[in-house]
Amino acid sequence: MKRYAPREHADHIITELQKQGFEPVPLYGVERTVIAVIGDERKLDIGHLRAMPSVGQVMPVLQPYKLASRESKPEATIIDVKGVKIGGEEIAIMAGPCSVESQEQMDVTARAVSKAGAKILRGGAYKPRTGPYSFEGHKEEGLKMMRKAADANNMIMITEIMDARHIDTVMKYTDILQIGARNMQNFTLLRELSKIRKPVMLKRGLCATMKEFLLAAEYLLSGGNGEVILCERGIRTYEDDMRNTLSIGAVARIKELSHLPLIVDPSHATGIASLVKPASLASIAAGADGLIIEVHPNPEEALSDGDQSITPEEFSDLILKMGPVAAAVGRTVNTN
Ligand code: PEP
Ligand code: MN
Repeated sequence: MKRYAPREHADHIITELQKQGFEPVPLYGVERTVIAVIGDERKLDIGHLRAMPSVGQVMPVLQPYKLASRESKPEATIIDVKGVKIGGEEIAIMAGPCSVESQEQMDVTARAVSKAGAKILRGGAYKPRTGPYSFEGHKEEGLKMMRKAADANNMIMITEIMDARHIDTVMKYTDILQIGARNMQNFTLLRELSKIRKPVMLKRGLCATMKEFLLAAEYLLSGGNGEVILCERGIRTYEDDMRNTLSIGAVARIKELSHLPLIVDPSHATGIASLVKPASLASIAAGADGLIIEVHPNPEEALSDGDQSITPEEFSDLILKMGPVAAAVGRTVNTN
């Protein structure tokens, strides 16, 4: 649509396309609305469509991930969660422990990371563990602890959902749902989460190409959930010194290929606490829209991922160091 086209014109086109047997999917932007049309291209009367009120341009999208691609929506998507913007000028900071362990741990962590500038609290209540004998999280009790800590510190929260059977429970507490790397291609879960009305952060699969990653996001978008956040969390390569290999190239490339906000997880990407700072700064420089960082008040005692967790002191130092890097690429960091 043309810039600032009236909503009625978009609605009119949507109804018209539906009548013709197409599936129109509107992507509403601040300045411009894009209507993606799914269906048999040969049956589309492009001339007629071009002549409709407020139509700016009609073009085929060549990428297989139609809705996620920048071709279909050149303007960056900004997701507003209770006033916290993800994908805007300010770098979105998500911080908190790997697992929710206790109310006290959540309270102490939330207070510290919020004081340093983070607005989004992370924590896992349903944990995907490599082996079946590791701590699997406190489940609904954990969600309650996290919600309480987030509310007390005026933060929003993000937590992982592993199974479609938990949707109602997880939706009750969280503001953003996270799909873990191991579930990136769990297509039944993606389809279920495409129907909900809350933002979803999709983590890149352990061995997923960028195309597979964006096609997984396409499942969420095409099912009707337009609030999709991508997360680069490192991929598996032949390197075994670090837990994963953070693809800085992918950060820059995904921002070219897609309009969706992109968050980097330097904690899982490196697996080593001392690397969280350099990996975070590099990610911001490469164009990431935000970071999700594991912070624990006492990393040696963490029930999961202690090796990669930083302390609240290290976290606030990192936020301060981020300012000049963000400024160099035209972004800002909230330091409170
Ligand atoms: C996490 O963020 O808690 C997590 C398990 O990460 P990933 O799915 O990227 O391994
Ligand atoms: Mn973790």
